[in-house]
Amino acid sequence: MYANSLIELDRAHLIHPVASYRSHEKHGVRVLASAKGATVTDASGKQLIDGFAGLWCVNAGYGHESIVEAAARQMQELPYATAYFGLGSEPAIRLASELADRAPGDLNHVYFTLGGSDAVDSTIRFIRYYWNARGRPERDQFISVEQGYHGSSTAGAGLTALPAFHAGFGLPFDWQHKIPSHYAYRNPVGDDPQAIIEASLAALKSKVEAIGPERVAAFYVEPIQGSGGVLVPPKGWVKAMREFCREHDILFVADEVITGFGRTGPLFACSEEEVVPDFITTAKGLTSGYVPMGAVFMADHVYETIAEGAGATAIGHGYTYSAHPVSAAVGLEVLKLYENGLLQNGVRAGARLMRGLQSLRDHPLVGDVRGRGMLAAVELVVDKSNKTPLPSSAEPARRIFDRAWENGLVIRAFANGVLGYAPPLCCTETEIDAIVERTRITLDETLEDPDVR
Ligand code: PMP
Repeated sequence: MYANSLIELDRAHLIHPVASYRSHEKHGVRVLASAKGATVTDASGKQLIDGFAGLWCVNAGYGHESIVEAAARQMQELPYATAYFGLGSEPAIRLASELADRAPGDLNHVYFTLGGSDAVDSTIRFIRYYWNARGRPERDQFISVEQGYHGSSTAGAGLTALPAFHAGFGLPFDWQHKIPSHYAYRNPVGDDPQAIIEASLAALKSKVEAIGPERVAAFYVEPIQGSGGVLVPPKGWVKAMREFCREHDILFVADEVITGFGRTGPLFACSEEEVVPDFITTAKGLTSGYVPMGAVFMADHVYETIAEGAGATAIGHGYTYSAHPVSAAVGLEVLKLYENGLLQNGVRAGARLMRGLQSLRDHPLVGDVRGRGMLAAVELVVDKSNKTPLPSSAEPARRIFDRAWENGLVIRAFANGVLGYAPPLCCTETEIDAIVERTRITLDETLEDPDVR
């Protein structure tokens, strides 16, 4: 039994992110109590495999003593140091340096934030500053991709292309534009990789022309779109977009908040694509979710332009918790774990996860299976022949999430009937097989639910 008093206190006082407050009040909170490895335990003692690593973030898995010790040590020595006034702390400097060593190309400068949203928001500020420094203030228009997610700050949520982040918030701003997603399963040009790349290039070209080629500041992509439903672009798509931007003097931002730190295999998904962006944004796996932290990676030429443009004037962008020493100490320890076997295990486990989920393709509800590494999705449909989505009126996401929970599995159930997977990279073969098997059972039960079909 859940502690009823917690449910009542939650209902009365805690506002949950991205939730219908009314339906949350009705259903009540599920309290998580503890976790170890890839297993979470709720307040009733029920154990579940966390197939979503919290919120695609606990890449290292739960309960690493060495991470806890790194944080505790840093808290004892120096729990806080501002990075204002020319001050700093050893872990933040070392982490910036270690990360710059591993980042693609000349992304040698690191700006630490508290998470992904303020990392994206920081890039928007830096990019405006950059174009002003170059004497091109008219380059103030931003383009991103439909189904994209770039956080929940006021400016970033306008680059995000999910309706719930706009409706009622007065977003997007008129300087924020979108091109259609590559979404292969539902792309009007079909699923041929080359056709998809060409369609996206044509869409970007015509968007740039419509805005005015001299006005476009930057283009934002996720190497794999996460919150839009784990949409994997064809190989070469990211590179083609990057090259277009280079040719048109448009800054290219790769938002790797989900794809970074082993989620798709390497530390940066851009490396697999052989792409060097002007900015990379990261968070989540950077500290494996143990403490909040994000990071903006900035290319040399951007840094130089901003630095020269400002001269002796302070560049007015900063947070109290920029370069927080405890978060940085955790980041350093997590990086060690990635390179001492976790990334490799993630690659092995990811291949097994994809094989397992592919084996569900025969299921009557499964329209599509996609992913890379430890990032995957199963898209459910009521009719495979015409790809009819599940009826949103039946609240399929909630029902499927609840069923999976009963079966001992935490997944992300998106509103449109897409199931998202992002397990910790430490998963064993047995755990991966259990994720697949529990999904199969959940799908069989869903098939029997007349409201969902
Ligand atoms: N960008 C991307 C691609 C994301 O997936 C997310 C979070 N899911 C964010 C930005 C925002 O990160 P945060 O929730 O840490 O603010």
